[in-house]
Amino acid sequence: MTIRAVETIPIRQELDAPFGNGQGWTTARQYLIVRLVADDGTIGYGECWGPIAGNQQVVEQLIAPLVIGQDPMATGRLWDEIAFRLRWAYHSFAPYSALSGVDLALWDLKGKLLGRPVAELLGGAVHTRVPAYATGHYFRQVDRLDRQIDVVLEEARGNLAGSFRRLKLKIGLALLGWGADADVTLMTALRDEVGDGVPIMVDANCAYRMPDAVRVGRAAEALGVTWFEEPLPPTDIAGYCELSRRLDVPIAGGESWALLSEFAEIFHRRAVSVAQPDVCSAGGITEVKRIADLARALNIACYPHVWGTPIAMAASLHVLATLPGQVLLEFDQSPNPIREGLLTTPITVGSDGAVEVPTGPGFGIEVDEDQLERFRATG
Ligand SMILES: [Mg+2]
Repeated sequence: MTIRAVETIPIRQELDAPFGNGQGWTTARQYLIVRLVADDGTIGYGECWGPIAGNQQVVEQLIAPLVIGQDPMATGRLWDEIAFRLRWAYHSFAPYSALSGVDLALWDLKGKLLGRPVAELLGGAVHTRVPAYATGHYFRQVDRLDRQIDVVLEEARGNLAGSFRRLKLKIGLALLGWGADADVTLMTALRDEVGDGVPIMVDANCAYRMPDAVRVGRAAEALGVTWFEEPLPPTDIAGYCELSRRLDVPIAGGESWALLSEFAEIFHRRAVSVAQPDVCSAGGITEVKRIADLARALNIACYPHVWGTPIAMAASLHVLATLPGQVLLEFDQSPNPIREGLLTTPITVGSDGAVEVPTGPGFGIEVDEDQLERFRATG
């Protein structure tokens, strides 16, 4: 069996209202979907992190010629060949999100051709269900902090009523012109609302410099926050190391880093206690499994970052299913018509606050091709 075609499908949906985090405002959801077609017509789906621009050209012009005519069982060999080609072509600008999307599609295709779920191909599932946490509680375009707090608390109540048992809050309100004090006020309001029994994570999306990161981190400790995510820009590795030493609250990060080599350096320096590689950007399932295995060897938690379509979520579930010990799935609840509409059967959180790992071949999901066409980006 060989791969007959590599197709790219850019999808995009404008949002009714923008929402923000510590890095800026989101006004639309857009992804590049990769569709690999085998000789017998079997299809594997993948997804690239980030803008359509760039990823689409890289997949079509550089990666497709390496993959067409190849054996889809050779996920590892193809990963090496693509990674080498990108590094050779782009040096430090190599678009590993393009590699990630193709790698995901290869794993989905391989699983379907073998009639086995991807988790089984990765060594076997140790979890049939993965506890999920609700990502959301973003910034709105409001002019007063109490309005932002009201929006967050209402959303939190909705997420808890909808079976979620863990919540992640966005902080870094400097985007709205407020300082770290506003973040502490917001965190405190959420803790007061949900009580001590609900685990809360906070995510600054790289908003701070060291003094504010320490100040907010200490407040997070006092509020019993589970982890403090991306307090600093991803380039400030020394800052992450210092913060991890100074604070008791676990420092999390990883969605902005790629490849095993980069995570090896992060882990070696003990920069984070919770690693969050994204299967759509860090190098696909192939590389995120390696990162997770290294994290395990070094006794560092690894909970992949997920902020994509249900393809990214299913791929992440298959990796998480194979990781011993506690695992957590990031389940984005911010507005996203593509997340709701791309599959014939959407992925949902159960009454136990967990998500079932799909057991069908490949990723075990069915992409609704009509919906995929409806979401196709035009222009
Ligand atoms: Mg994050």
